[in-house]
Amino acid sequence: MASKLVCYDCGRRVDAPAVRCSCGEPLWFDVDVSDFEWPSSSDTSMWRYDELLPDVTATGVGTAAGGTPLVRTSTLDDYANCNTFVKYEAEEPTGTFKDRGSAVGVAWAAAEGSGRVGTVSHGNMGMSMAAHAAAMDQECFVLVPNDIPAERLTYIAQYDPTIVRIEGDYGDLYYDTIDLSRRLDITFVNSDVPLRVAGQKTVALEICEAFAPEVPDGIVVPVSSGGHASAVWKGLRELHEAGVIATIPSLYLVQAAAVDPIATAYRDGASSVSATDRTSTIAYSIANADPPSGNRALAAARETDGVVTSVSEDAIRDATETLATDAGLCVEPSSAVSLAGLRKLADDGWIDSSDEIVMITTGTGFKEGSETSVESTEIDLSSLERELPTLFS
Ligand SMILES: *Cc1c(COP(=O)(O)O)cnc(C)c1O
Ligand SMILES: [Zn+2]
Repeated sequence: MASKLVCYDCGRRVDAPAVRCSCGEPLWFDVDVSDFEWPSSSDTSMWRYDELLPDVTATGVGTAAGGTPLVRTSTLDDYANCNTFVKYEAEEPTGTFKDRGSAVGVAWAAAEGSGRVGTVSHGNMGMSMAAHAAAMDQECFVLVPNDIPAERLTYIAQYDPTIVRIEGDYGDLYYDTIDLSRRLDITFVNSDVPLRVAGQKTVALEICEAFAPEVPDGIVVPVSSGGHASAVWKGLRELHEAGVIATIPSLYLVQAAAVDPIATAYRDGASSVSATDRTSTIAYSIANADPPSGNRALAAARETDGVVTSVSEDAIRDATETLATDAGLCVEPSSAVSLAGLRKLADDGWIDSSDEIVMITTGTGFKEGSETSVESTEIDLSSLERELPTLFS
């Protein structure tokens, strides 16, 4: 398996169990797609595509990753000004797409590693890794920024990993763990490492299989480190190379304007992404100011005739509410950026009103503390029949 790593950028093949190429860019797994056809398997989890996955076996929660619903959301069409679909990753076992990558990464570590896995996390990643580690009997280290909201820690702690709060530059931590992986024999399955990207690409396979033999016109992805966007791109490239899709849908990548290094590079026509300041945003899960797969995400958008854009805090709030009130879908603000971004791109003329566009809503809203004050009315049971009609609008 080690010999199958390749650099998306310079094409170099790397033998060691590395995560980055000597050119500095991230590696991913190359697979032989020549015999691939849509599977006839009755397995609806991500493992229905095992032919395109590293040769590992998950157990427990890992077998439940993937197979999330693709929802036609016609009630959002006016808001987004096109034909909308939602790929609802909120239904993953721990509520985010991270489970697809954790399933592959932890299964690999269980077979080949030292019994220790780790990750760097703003919350969702730690929760996902800790859950999969629990199911595969791996010791798990979750490194979090010191200012992580307390409620996020309680979700991670349920699975009983070792939680380490890190004071210092969070961007550097990613690179430090590459070194720690070797020296402490911990398999770090961070945001954009080859094992994680290999699992996370299955979301693109599911979307395209649902549309087969057609493809959607575009796929909208919230972006932070760029690992997820890289994975979606990788999945689409493999399907195209295998000949099961005729064209590659455009990738529309969306960031919060508060932290948007990749969108800035796109806007400036820059050849690479530069780190920005870390300002606060309600889209907490996508606030990576120094994205390790930023250049790869930029390439994904450019090479698929897509766009990288960013959206305001107000637009994110409005889209989060609209997903709930108009489509009944509760997602976290970091996921709702896909709807906010799509609306903006349609307004700016990038999307045609007849286009069919899939928004990946990356994570559930059920884990989020809400800012909204709730309006309600109190009625005594004995007067319910008399009082309820007064509330009809
Ligand atoms: C991790 C995460 C993202 C960003 O994914 P990257 O691979 O870091 O780009 C987006 N949304 C949610 C809900 C996440 O947890
Ligand atoms: Zn390279």
